[in-house]
Amino acid sequence: MLKSIRAALAMSVITLSAFGASSAFAAPLKVVASFTVIADFARNVGGDRIDVTTIVGPDGDAHVYEPSPADAVAMAKADIVLVNGLHFEGFLQRLVDASATKASIITLTKGVTPIDFKPEFADADAAEGTGGGKTVTDPHAFQSIANAKIYVKNIAEAFCAADSEGCVSYQTNAAAYTKKLDALEGEVKAAIQSIPEAKRVVITSHDAFGYFEHEYGLTFLAPQGISTDSEPSAADVAKLVEQVKQDKAAAIFVENITNPRLIEQIASETGIKVGGTLYSDALSQPDGPGSTYIDMMHNNIRQIKGAILGS
Ligand code: ZN
Repeated sequence: MLKSIRAALAMSVITLSAFGASSAFAAPLKVVASFTVIADFARNVGGDRIDVTTIVGPDGDAHVYEPSPADAVAMAKADIVLVNGLHFEGFLQRLVDASATKASIITLTKGVTPIDFKPEFADADAAEGTGGGKTVTDPHAFQSIANAKIYVKNIAEAFCAADSEGCVSYQTNAAAYTKKLDALEGEVKAAIQSIPEAKRVVITSHDAFGYFEHEYGLTFLAPQGISTDSEPSAADVAKLVEQVKQDKAAAIFVENITNPRLIEQIASETGIKVGGTLYSDALSQPDGPGSTYIDMMHNNIRQIKGAILGS
């Protein structure tokens, strides 16, 4: 793997030097985004002044992603690398090292108030010594729209620092997109308010929605912890099934990034019908229902309301 990364890098160096730096045009800023949500934010801020390469693509799982030689080439060529941070991208340091990138690595959760996660069901993590049972930081900050606005602000600042000529354009785009996020936030709040309080408990495969829960007041239960890198134990699953049977959950969902097997098992043991697919850690394919961050949020509230209220 490393050998092939080096070979690919050598190729890219040849290509770069062949074209040289004599371009008469201001070349677009070469941006690498660690995953799809960040790529979408970057496009909204950067417009046609940037070229975005996404490492973990649509429906991909950043927790367990294995970088490819092409990823290392993109990193090596990048002017800016945008990442979530809070240990969301388990592959990041290996990729930075393998690519020897000189790009600025911008952590977009800078300025976000992190939420601690205490696993309720993730005994499997404890068994494997990966932090389960102990409090760890939840990395899924982008599931709060208030935080998404912080990501966007950080992106605009990073682009301005790298390309001062485009700064007015980046700031203008960021302001326009933030307005759309304000409207989206109003819709999400109204959607959750329309659900009776006693029914505001749902099940998903892994704990990706802690920030959504904190911000909007819908409780998520999940057999897997905040990462997908370990299997929940039989005891975790039994505990969750028991909770559902006591009527503590109003709906159950599969996620686009995880294997639906476990959720289907819980659904069949409890008699709750799977309510649909929530987009958790990645956007959908371009022709899917959540190919942008705003569409992803619309999809998720529509699925949640539909499953709980039957509308
Ligand atoms: Zn996750």
